[in-house]
Amino acid sequence: MKRRSFIKQAPFAASASFAVVSCMTASAKKVKNSSLSNNKNSKTIMAFELPALSYATTALEPHVDAKTMEIHHGKHHAAYVTNLNAAVTADANAQGKSLEELIANISKFAPAIRNNGGGHWNHSMFWQIMGPNGGGEPKGEIGAAITNTFGSLDNFKKEFSQAGMTRFGSGWAWLSVGADKKLFISSTPNQDNPLMDIADKKGTPVLGLDVWEHAYYLHYQNRRADYVAAFFNVINWDEVNRRYKAAIGG
Ligand code: MN
Repeated sequence: MKRRSFIKQAPFAASASFAVVSCMTASAKKVKNSSLSNNKNSKTIMAFELPALSYATTALEPHVDAKTMEIHHGKHHAAYVTNLNAAVTADANAQGKSLEELIANISKFAPAIRNNGGGHWNHSMFWQIMGPNGGGEPKGEIGAAITNTFGSLDNFKKEFSQAGMTRFGSGWAWLSVGADKKLFISSTPNQDNPLMDIADKKGTPVLGLDVWEHAYYLHYQNRRADYVAAFFNVINWDEVNRRYKAAIGG
């Protein structure tokens, strides 16, 4: 099914599958060219959209508070989307490309596309790998792979937390699948991610933790360690496992 026909058939969809599609693929919107005055000369440009959350902003409390969720999703992520659309509009080479295409070749684009395209991709993933009734022990393939790679879940938590804690300033901690299909932990500055061609350690992220202050300051203030510890209570391991299986199978 083509993207545009899918949108027409499901304009009000709030399902997880719709969120995945809508955030990762630009949707076509008829936008009137401001330099022209009639509809005959309007042109179609591609616009990225803020994906809806698949749970209430209160759903991750007390670990992630509702106010932080509201601002983080509704203001911060929304701004990345708005600014990405503006940056793509200003760059003919970026137009018509998927978010993944932009990110895989990010060194060829302006910093505004790197920062806001990364911001859009990273947050779209972040909302999905968290969820109500999250946490606990990962089951399935990802659970086995974590034990095999890191020795134990506790040791994985320790190493992943370390990646988040030692990221100076703003950035992300990641659990990714490398080209060798093995899991590895890394961190990136700002809104970079392991999918970017400029990443030190490249791979496909299956879990990511936002350690920007905007992700935790309202509730945890300067206590990043408390926020990182609480994150393990809201991880949606089913989604992480889904992403892991896709990464090793693809
Ligand atoms: Mn953020």
